[in-house]
Amino acid sequence: MEMEQMYTYKCTKCGKLHHPRYIVCQNPDCDGREFEKIPLEGKCRLLTWTRVYNLPEGYMCPWLNFGIVEFENGVRATGQIGFDEGIESGMELIATVGIVKEKTILYKETVVAPQHGFIFQKA
Ligand SMILES: [Zn+2]
Repeated sequence: MEMEQMYTYKCTKCGKLHHPRYIVCQNPDCDGREFEKIPLEGKCRLLTWTRVYNLPEGYMCPWLNFGIVEFENGVRATGQIGFDEGIESGMELIATVGIVKEKTILYKETVVAPQHGFIFQKA
């Protein structure tokens, strides 16, 4: 199976890092439209998190923990927290990539399309 990977997008004009991807560089002093893909992975720090109980259809569990992290390069990203106990803002985590949603339901038709995203694990 193909390894999934998440990326940060570096503006080739000014060097600003973006996640997720944008059409135009988000630096107000830059109009760059070309980006270099750099893998986004490894150590990060949990900034804030929340537990969500009322999940939309397509999730096969009663609740999920969602967090916002900051990577060592300053890029921030959201994802699921892959454990339930001992979650604390400020803690170190390791970003892995996995299936975050099994399927997406559109207009009563079940579209089986696993969606990949970050799953943060204990460092
Ligand atoms: Zn730029």
